Amino acid sequence: MSKPVLGIIGGGQLGSMLAMAAKKLEVKTIIFCDDINAPAQKYSNEFICGKYDNKEKINQFIKKVDIITFEFENIPYKTLNEINKIKPVLPKPTVNKIIQHRLTEKDFLNKLNIKTTEYILIKNKSAISSSKNLLPGLLKTTTLGYDGKGQYKIESINDLKFLNINFSKEYILEKLVKLKKEISIIITRFANNKYEVYEPIENTHEEQILKHSKIPADISEINFNKSKEWAIKIAKNLDYIGTLCVEFFIDGNDNLYVNEIAPRVHNSGHLTIDAYNVSQFENHIRAVCDLQKVKTKRLYAAKMKNLIGNDIFIYKNKKFKKNEFFYDYFKKEIKDKRKMGHLTTIFIK
Ligand code: AMP
Repeated sequence: MSKPVLGIIGGGQLGSMLAMAAKKLEVKTIIFCDDINAPAQKYSNEFICGKYDNKEKINQFIKKVDIITFEFENIPYKTLNEINKIKPVLPKPTVNKIIQHRLTEKDFLNKLNIKTTEYILIKNKSAISSSKNLLPGLLKTTTLGYDGKGQYKIESINDLKFLNINFSKEYILEKLVKLKKEISIIITRFANNKYEVYEPIENTHEEQILKHSKIPADISEINFNKSKEWAIKIAKNLDYIGTLCVEFFIDGNDNLYVNEIAPRVHNSGHLTIDAYNVSQFENHIRAVCDLQKVKTKRLYAAKMKNLIGNDIFIYKNKKFKKNEFFYDYFKKEIKDKRKMGHLTTIFIK
């Protein structure tokens, strides 16, 4: 059977790593991205540059591919749904509809009896005053916020005097968890309800941006198993095809909470490239292109460091040890807080 041509929406580092994994599997890729300098074009067979609402360019893209996937989840549901009527989009657009909105995402999880932080929808300032039980808390925009963007920490009602919050948008107020640890699970779900689940990854953030990831995670056996079980439950109930990431909090009493779901390959899973026999990217390609599933095994312990902003300069000319793997995302412009590359170090387990 001939292999499908895969269309990838988005051309950043995740698109690059997906295209590289596809090349290894001899799957042709076409990247669609609104950035003329998109790094992923270096690795794909073809590149189409266009705005995500440019129907003509999107149609040109759809005609050339057999299956479409994406590297970021905030493509409007309507756009993905229209594309899906012509060529299959995987994971399917209904997944994005649930996950693009923090309220529907948390409601979905709670219906599955999966614990999240306590939360409430906030439409105006006075709604915060009547939700004092959730303070100290974090006010987050219901849509389009990531890496701490669109978030306000509110210790007490008094803080509202000093915060310039735009209430023409909707928010959720989330109770602040006293974090002991953050972990994530990367899972790939294939057709016929088959899975490959990676073991929990321990993550540390700086200024709400992922800085370090490591395996094995230093967590209890209960949370090791529960996080995997919940990720499987989530993937199954979303009828998901492809690689998905579930981000978790663990508090001082070892309670596990799901923070959020990313319906795509994820930054915390970059260490799977060097530490596993099959990476999160390769598993994603195998799942969406319906290729053979390979038993996924960890080969090494590993840690990954994100190189953010100017960090990249130090590494561009550095000499690396044999167990260090440096990845430059080849982004044209260095910006503060921009993910520019990463370094993975592997260890004999
Ligand atoms: P998010 O954009 O929701 O993924 O949040 C980014 C980071 O902010 C998380 O990885 C946590 O480090 C922190 N954070 C978000 N929500 C909470 C919360 N309810 N309690 C404690 N820390 C949080």
